[in-house]
Amino acid sequence: MATTSHSSNERTASNEDGTGKSTILQTENLAKLYGEFIAVDHVDFTVNEGDFHSVIGPNGAGKTTLLDLITGGRTPTLGSIYFNGEDITDLPSDELVHKGIARSFQITSLLDGLTVYENVRLAVQASGYRDLSKAETLVYPTDSHDSFEQTARTILQRIDLEEEADLLAQNLSYGDRRKLEIGIVLATDPELVLLDEPTAGMSIDKKQKTIDLINDVLADATVILVEHDVELVMQLSDNITVLHQGSILAEGPPEEIEDNQHVQDAYLGGYNDE
Ligand code: ATP
Repeated sequence: MATTSHSSNERTASNEDGTGKSTILQTENLAKLYGEFIAVDHVDFTVNEGDFHSVIGPNGAGKTTLLDLITGGRTPTLGSIYFNGEDITDLPSDELVHKGIARSFQITSLLDGLTVYENVRLAVQASGYRDLSKAETLVYPTDSHDSFEQTARTILQRIDLEEEADLLAQNLSYGDRRKLEIGIVLATDPELVLLDEPTAGMSIDKKQKTIDLINDVLADATVILVEHDVELVMQLSDNITVLHQGSILAEGPPEEIEDNQHVQDAYLGGYNDE
């Protein structure tokens, strides 16, 4: 797992929810405005270390924007974000990757002209360089290259794409592209992984397989998942945050969320009756 460096503006990560788990991520009064439109509305969002934490809510609730703010893709209008107690509000995405925060996107962003192996190998190498200066990367020792190769092969095995290693990424099926994307996330050795609809567009069977894979390969990481399939979310999550019109409508373990009348009215509808 990636190690976390603490800066001078570090503060103590606390947890008051009685679970005994420590807090890995916390937002305070986090807001994002587009003009006068409030996409994320003063959100205090807390994620426990090691949890599988899902974020659900209707279209336009602000889920992707919240992930964008946490991963440095967008700048907050207001508020703060803490990772392991360190203020990361103003850090760009590449620095966040080096701190152990990885993101996979709703729209896949693979290098289509490279093979499956090359995509993973490149990601392993890029994260392998994380602690070295640019000059040092030019003279990286040969045995490190061997270990990049080994790590890449191990990742291909874990995401079940060994047989596709020499295929160009552009020739993969949709489901295999999502797997490869998870492989690239793994290559950065993340402590916290944010996944935005990793099963979008998949059949029920493929969805379940992809989620099983995520659960397996990211078992040691903390996961924040945005997902529309409520049944999967209820099955998987330690904690769920329900966003509605940019604000947190409810937060808690699946059984509490299922029973919450506000959530029923605003979002879940007939889910319990199915
Ligand atoms: P979905 O489930 O449909 O992906 P979401 O919960 O992820 O939705 P966001 O994509 O975060 O919602 O969008 C929240 C709101 O902010 C939406 O009303 C969206 O139209 C608006 N929005 C997002 N990006 C911009 C932008 N760049 N400029 C203006 N409005 C935006």
